[in-house]
Amino acid sequence: MSDLTYEEPKPKIYSGAKGDWELVIGLEVHAQVASKSKLFSGASTQFGNEPNLNVSMVDAAMPGMLPVINEFCVEQAVRTGLGLKAAINLYSAFDRKNYFYPDLPQGYQISQLYHPIVGEGEILVDMEPGVARNVRVERIHLEQDAGKSVHDMDPNMSFVDLNRTGVALMEIVSMPDIRSPEEAAAYVTKLRQILRYLGTCDGNMQNGNMRADVNVSVCPSGQYEKFRATGNFSHLGTRCELKNMNSMRFIQMAIDFEARRQIAILEDGGTIDQETRLYDADKNETRSMRSKEEAHDYRYFPDPDLLPLEIEQSWVDEIAASLPELPDAKKARFVIEFGITEYDASVLTADAIDADYFETVAKGRDGKQAANWIINELFGRLNKANLIISDSPISTNQLGAILDLISKGDISGKIAKDLFEIVWNEGGEPTKIVEIRGMKQVTDSGAIETAVDKIMADNPDQVIKAQANPKLAGWFVGQVMKATGGKANPKVVNQIIASKLHI
Ligand code: ADP
Ligand code: MG
Repeated sequence: MSDLTYEEPKPKIYSGAKGDWELVIGLEVHAQVASKSKLFSGASTQFGNEPNLNVSMVDAAMPGMLPVINEFCVEQAVRTGLGLKAAINLYSAFDRKNYFYPDLPQGYQISQLYHPIVGEGEILVDMEPGVARNVRVERIHLEQDAGKSVHDMDPNMSFVDLNRTGVALMEIVSMPDIRSPEEAAAYVTKLRQILRYLGTCDGNMQNGNMRADVNVSVCPSGQYEKFRATGNFSHLGTRCELKNMNSMRFIQMAIDFEARRQIAILEDGGTIDQETRLYDADKNETRSMRSKEEAHDYRYFPDPDLLPLEIEQSWVDEIAASLPELPDAKKARFVIEFGITEYDASVLTADAIDADYFETVAKGRDGKQAANWIINELFGRLNKANLIISDSPISTNQLGAILDLISKGDISGKIAKDLFEIVWNEGGEPTKIVEIRGMKQVTDSGAIETAVDKIMADNPDQVIKAQANPKLAGWFVGQVMKATGGKANPKVVNQIIASKLHI
């Protein structure tokens, strides 16, 4: 399948008092593996359970307990890597990242610093039709999530909920290739879309299922390209990390605030402290949380309780063979196979279930018409009712039947909308509904002629006017439609009126 071609989006330029500045952004996305049990224990990952219900002895770090790797989670990381066209490392290993936190009973997090399971990949970040950037992924590693401290249940005490402790996360680290707040949001959107297609992460951002640490720095306009060419980013501006962002809108607002804050400091002759900051959505500002730790602060070392992971190439090949068609390929195929615009194809492939719905309806029919009906009528109606496509009251068969009635000329587009409403509210077979309710379009020219003759006889003045000015023939079309309850075939009506008026 030939790929669509793209132009790169322009970086966002901020005009400061002393010159133009550009943004440099790199994201570390934590995506929870869609697994029923945790990374190193059999405890459940069910969201919303009673606090501390999903906790095994391993998660609680009882003395003597040993972690056991969950093969399913490893498979999902490999699957994700393959979906991002990344190198899969047949050898990887787990390291302990040591730090104290009340919701981390082990006193360390098991992660992969030195030998991650997935190496370099890429994500095509779509901006608008014909504009996209290939953002490189540096690595993906597997690690454990921490628990949750609860501070707002009691005035004098804090609580700890370990349900999330030990849940498998994939940390997906991008290169600093992202150049505007919009691109950062589009990157997360695309990554989420791919993960959902792959089925490796639910991507539910409200539940914290996917969250992003957003690294932001600024540099004088033009400098980035120079460093990009050399591949050495170490001389770019000092970055700040905006922690745990879980909304596309806030990601953009936080980056924008942060860019302006850094530019103001630099133009004032100051320097940027490398630190971790938190975004406060109520005030639309970022605040310093702590100065950034360096890797050596964590005293990483290989976890002695876990053997390195050695996987077989044949297993990787098997997983590769089972990958579904991914968004870029599906979009390109829809454009070519169904003749729809790239924009429509993007909308229809946003979710795999939407894409399947479209494809079922469009097969053997006019693709453009199917796309229009699904995007404008069906999605519009679903939105209004706050429903998702899998709950659609109109099935692919029903919508297909409506489209067939239109293309056979049995109903007009306008009547089709009425029919759509009836099927939405009452269900039923569209063809039968049209029969029973007498909604069929009148194409019988005799019946239409009779109606036209009567209207012309009743309105001789209009006939004279329309003959003098053919534009006024539209008045007769309206009258005939009214007389036939909108069921007359407009093409036939137009022809008959024109011939009777001799225009
Ligand atoms: P650390 O080891 O401190 O976490 P990494 O090299 O892993 O640093 O980078 C973390 C993230 O920061 C990556 O997503 C990377 O793309 C991004 N990053 C690195 N340098 C910059 C920079 N100058 N500006 C913005 N983001 C950057
Ligand atoms: Mg890092």
